[in-house]
Parts: sequence; structure tokens; C-alpha cells
Amino acid sequence: MQKLRYESPSIQKMNAGLMNKYGTRTEYEAVKHIDGVPVKSMIEQYGSPVFVISERTIRRTYQSAVRAFKTRYPKVQFAWSYKTNYINAICKIFHQEGSWGEVVSGFEYRKALGNGVPGNKIIFNGPEKTDEELVLAINNDSLIHIDHFEEMYQLIDLADKLKKKPRVAIRVNMDTGVYPMWDRFGFNYENGQAWTAMNKIVASGKLQLTGLHCHIGTFMLSTEAYAVAVRKLGDLAWNAKTQLNTVLQYLDLGGGLPTANNLRGAYMPSADMIPSVDEFAEAITNALYNIGFNTDELPLLILESGRALIDDAGYLLGTVLANKRLSDGRKATIMDFGVNILFTAFWYEHKMSPAQDFTHHTEDMVLYGPLCMNIDMVRSSINMPLLNRGDHVVVHKVGAYNMTQWMQFIQMRPNVVLIDESGNTHLIRQAETLEYIEQMEILPDYLKEINL
Ligand SMILES: *Cc1c(COP(=O)(O)O)cnc(C)c1O
Repeated sequence: MQKLRYESPSIQKMNAGLMNKYGTRTEYEAVKHIDGVPVKSMIEQYGSPVFVISERTIRRTYQSAVRAFKTRYPKVQFAWSYKTNYINAICKIFHQEGSWGEVVSGFEYRKALGNGVPGNKIIFNGPEKTDEELVLAINNDSLIHIDHFEEMYQLIDLADKLKKKPRVAIRVNMDTGVYPMWDRFGFNYENGQAWTAMNKIVASGKLQLTGLHCHIGTFMLSTEAYAVAVRKLGDLAWNAKTQLNTVLQYLDLGGGLPTANNLRGAYMPSADMIPSVDEFAEAITNALYNIGFNTDELPLLILESGRALIDDAGYLLGTVLANKRLSDGRKATIMDFGVNILFTAFWYEHKMSPAQDFTHHTEDMVLYGPLCMNIDMVRSSINMPLLNRGDHVVVHKVGAYNMTQWMQFIQMRPNVVLIDESGNTHLIRQAETLEYIEQMEILPDYLKEINL
């Protein structure tokens, strides 16, 4: 083993923080490989920073989530939430596993079609759907989830013109005991709007009311909230059967299952706090059986889980640029990745590991990104072994939302690499180039010459 570098001692101010009987847990081990592939070689080949995704972890996570629900309930269908990560290679893995597509815009809808998802296996959510997009979805027999009355009238009008009877559901929002309520999407249950919308749909004779949808929040910690959601959707479904003569084919419970990422400022590590997928499945399926349907009328359970299926599979590899002392004495380490590509740093205290051997001297430090912008902070306080310029770090559980919400701000977006199940790496999204960015720009003729 190579001799470790000498680290000069430092004096630390005692910090009398809040009492916490759980203590803080910091486990550091060098992470030199991901699925058997050396971190160093990936950085050499694909540059730094670079996102790396484990296909093995995606498939295992997906299969175990499906198992949790299918062993408890006979009719289960997952639909991959495109906005969570819509790089085609990632979507295709989910579609190979049998997942439908769940999209929230016309752009995502066309991406799902492009990935070969049959129209009747695309769920079209979201508050904005143009006439053109709805016509496409109607002609493809997709499941259209209505967000507001205006959209309902728009659909009735289009269906009438096309002489087709599209399959629709309404998105329902409700009080599940978790606040703030996501009541800006869909029709409210408690004030009767959801029931009114269902009546109008059936009475119009132009649309087939096929299901009900909700997505009660994200990173939900309460299994009971899902049980409440099933009971409320179940109540509407029961009334549809008994009062509207309409047996609904599915209840779509949306996404929202949490991951083991630590929430910023949380008291306990998430791993000790979040219920397992099995516990969510137990709460949801028990409530489904209690709606009162006969076995042959049980609705299909659709799940649109996003982050819980992809977070663990994603890593961000990066490199230390510099160290400095802040005026208050804290150590600051500057990395080559910032909130431009690690959007979830606003929500999570991401676990970071050194990618090489390190000295066991640790120190509290702030981790900054490379942006010339004050909010570019990746971790506001982390106790880490000392890192030196050129050292690599691995950021864990970054598969969800970062590769869709990333910004092309100051820096361009980096390569994304997939490690397949045999340990081969594949570039699945190229790092952006100046030419790529400028392709979209148009320079008026009179600005072509400058005078310097
Ligand atoms: C974002 C979204 C999802 C996925 O949510 P997660 O919290 O990542 O599981 C599912 N359904 C809808 C309608 C969404 O907007």
C-alpha cells in the first residue's frame, strides 16, 4: 500500500449543537470501484465530472419493487416516470423490464413513443396538453389524465370532432394528512370537484372514464398517507360503479416513494426513517382489498414510482480542485461539480466517499462547486477525510432528477455513462460542446463585426 500523505493538525472549535440521541453517523470507506469498474479509469476515459449509472442496480431495484406489490395483489403495473430520468437508455431498461411510460408533457410523450412504447401503454399526465398533443394521444389510445375542467372540455370537444371515445382518468388531490397538500394538481376530493368531474365525464358520453389517478407528494414518509389515498379513490370508484354504472379499470397511485438519501436538516438518517417498499405495498394493497370490490372487479393498481427506482443506481464522480480556509476558520473544498449538475444538493445531504485511500484525520468542511455563484454549495457541512487537489470523490444516490433538472449554466453538462450487467461501460449521453450549445443561437447580421 502506498504511503499516505502527511496531514498537518488543525484546531477545531467545539460546536455545541442540538442534542441528538441518534448521534451522527459518518462511515467512510474509499469507493474505488462501481460494479467492479475502477472509478479512476472511468474518470480517465470519460472525464470529470461524470455521471455513472448501474444497470444492475436499476434492474434489481425495479424487480424487487414489482415483487413487493405483485406478491400482495394480482394486478399491478408500473409506469416509468420520464421526468425522473429520461435519458433513452435508462427508459429502455425500464421498458425492457415491462414498465409502461408515464409522461407529463408533449415532449416527454414523444420521447416515450420514440422509445417504442405502444401508445396504449403511455400515461399522459400534467397540467399542459396542447390540442395537437391530445389528438396524438387520442389517436394512439393513450391513457389521458385530466388535470382541470378546461382540459376536460377541450377533450370533449376534440373527441367529438375526431369521433373517438378517448380513455381518460382524472387526477384527484386530497387531504392525506401530509402537508402541504399538493392540491394545485387535479380535482379536489373533499370539496366535491372530483366527483363533479366524474359525473360530467360520464354524462358527456364522449369520454370513457377508465380510471382514477393521484400523486400525493414526493419523498413520502407515511405509508398511512397512501392508505388514505386508496380509501378516497376507492370511495370515488365505488360511487362510480353504484351511481354512474361505470366500473373503473384502474387506480393509479402515482409515485412519491422515498429513497435512502438524507434530507437536509433531518434529525435522523433516512435509512432509519423511511418505510420499506414492502411496507408501502402492504398499506396500499390492504386498502385496495377493503374498498369492497369482488375479486373479478379489482382494479389494476398502477404505480408511477420515479426516484425510488433510480436514485440508488446513479453516481456522480468528481475531482477536487482546491482547498481553502474560510474567514471563520472552516475548511472549504472546491469540487469540479456544483449545483448546476447536482440539483438535488438543495434537498439532500448527499453521501460522498473518497475514491482513494485517505488519512483517518477528518475535519468539518464545506464542499463548494466550481460555479462563480454563492449558492453553489454541494454540502454545507460535512465531516470528511482531508482531500487534496486531484483526489476523486464519489457522490451516491444521484440517479433521480439530476439528469433532467440539470442546468447549462456557466458549465456544460458532462458525460453520462452506463455500466451494463457484464461490467462494460457505455456512453449514453455525451458531454455538451460549445458547438452544440451555439447551434441554437442566431446572430443578427449587423452584430457580426465588433470594434476592438
Ligand atoms: C414526478 C411524478 C412522479 C414520480 O414521482 P417520484 O416522487 O419521483 O416517485 C409520478 N407521477 C407524477 C404525476 C409525477 O409528476
